[in-house]
Amino acid sequence: MIDTIRKQLGERASLLDYKATGVAASMLHLPGPDFVDRVFVPSDRPSAVLRNLSWMFGTGRLANTGYLSILPVDQGIEHSGAASFSPNPEYFDPVNIVKLAHEGGCNAVASTLGVLGAVAREYAHRIPFIVKLNHNELLTYPATYDETVFASVKQAFEMGAVGVGATIKSMLEHKLNPNDVLEAFKNHPTVAPLVRDGEQKEYSAHLIPDGGYKKLSKMSGDHVMVVGDAAGFVNATLFHEGTNLAMETGKLAGETAVEAFKKKDYSAVSLSLFDTKIKNSFPMKDLKQFKNTGETLEHSPKMFEKYPVLFGDLVSELFTVDGEPKWNKEKRLIGKLLTSENPFSLLKTMMDMRRVII
Ligand SMILES: Cc1cc2nc3c(=O)[nH]c(=O)nc-3n(C[C@H](O)[C@H](O)[C@H](O)COP(=O)(O)OP(=O)(O)OC[C@H]3O[C@@H](n4cnc5c(N)ncnc54)[C@H](O)[C@@H]3O)c2cc1C
Repeated sequence: MIDTIRKQLGERASLLDYKATGVAASMLHLPGPDFVDRVFVPSDRPSAVLRNLSWMFGTGRLANTGYLSILPVDQGIEHSGAASFSPNPEYFDPVNIVKLAHEGGCNAVASTLGVLGAVAREYAHRIPFIVKLNHNELLTYPATYDETVFASVKQAFEMGAVGVGATIKSMLEHKLNPNDVLEAFKNHPTVAPLVRDGEQKEYSAHLIPDGGYKKLSKMSGDHVMVVGDAAGFVNATLFHEGTNLAMETGKLAGETAVEAFKKKDYSAVSLSLFDTKIKNSFPMKDLKQFKNTGETLEHSPKMFEKYPVLFGDLVSELFTVDGEPKWNKEKRLIGKLLTSENPFSLLKTMMDMRRVII
C-alpha cells in the first residue's frame, strides 16, 4: 500500500519520510471513546459546555469514537431561495434538512437560525444543533453580498443549540485576520458578558477545494481511488454543491471496488473502471459544464456592479405608472441603455454569461 501511495505522490513522495521532531507522537491527544473525558473535562469549560460536547460526541453513527460528522447546510437568505435545492424542492422545508442529519446518523446539524428555529421544538432535543450566526445576505438591492450577523448567541442558547458557528469568507476582502474577527465577536455587547475571563483554547477549520473541472486530481491508480473533496469535486459556481458530488463519486468508487474484489484485481488497469464511471457521471458533467465560471466571473466585475444598477433603473422606470405610454418609455430606455453602455461590451458580457450558465 505504501508503495502505491509513494507512486501516486511522485516527486513529493519524500513527504512520507518527513519526521516531525518538534512534537513526539506520544504527546498527541488522539480521538477515542474517552475523548471528552480525557481532553475536555480537565479544561476549564463550564459543565453546560461539557454536557453539550458529550452529547455531540455521543450521538449518531460515530458516537463515542472521538470523531465527529456534522451536516452543514447553508440555506435561506444566504444562498437565496432557489440556489441549493431547486432540484430537490423537498429540502426547502427545514425539517427535511434536520431529518437527514438525524436519520443519517450525524453527530450534529449546523444551519441557520431560520432553518433550525423552524423545527427546534421538534428536534433540538433529538440531535445537537449548531447555529450559524452570520450569512451572506442577498436581500438588498443592488444584490451585493457581505457577511451579516443574523443570529445571536442568546437566540442559539434559547433555541437549545449546543453551539454556534460563523463563516469567514469576507475577511480576506476586508483584510481582517481571524483574531480580529474573534476579538470583535467577543467584544459584542451580547457576547462580552458570556466570555468574560474566558481563554482561547482551540481553532478548527475546513477548506473548500473550489478549483473546479480544470483542477480535478487523477482519479485512480494502483490500489487507490480518489473521491469527493479530495479529488476536487465541488461545484462552487451558482450551486454551492459538494455533498452530493462526494456521495455520487463515493458510490461509483464503491461499485468499482466490488468489481475489483470479484476479480481480486486492484491494479490501475482494473480500477480505471472508476475513471470510466466518473466520466459519465453527473458530477463530472456538471463540473465540465461550469468549467469557465470562476474565471469568467472574476473578469466580469460589471456583472456585480454596473449592470444590476443599470437594469434595475431601467426596469423601475418601465414599471412606474405615471401616465406616459409604454412605447415612449421603451424608446427612451433603449437610447439610455445604448448611451450608458458600449453595445459591444454589453454583447461580450452577455456571451460570457451564457458560458457561465449553460
Ligand atoms: C462551511 C461549509 C458549508 C458547506 N455547505 C455546503 C452546502 O450547503 N451544500 C453542499 O452540497 N456542500 C456544502 N459544503 C461542502 C461539503 O461539506 C463537502 O463537499 C463534502 O463534505 C465533501 O465530502 P467528502 O467526504 O469528500 O470530504 P469530507 O466531508 O471533508 O470528509 C473527509 C473526512 O476525512 C477525514 N480525514 C482527513 N484526513 C484524514 C486522515 N489522515 N486520516 C483519517 N481521516 C482523515 C476528515 O476528518 C473528514 O471526516 C460545505 C462545506 C463547508 C466547509
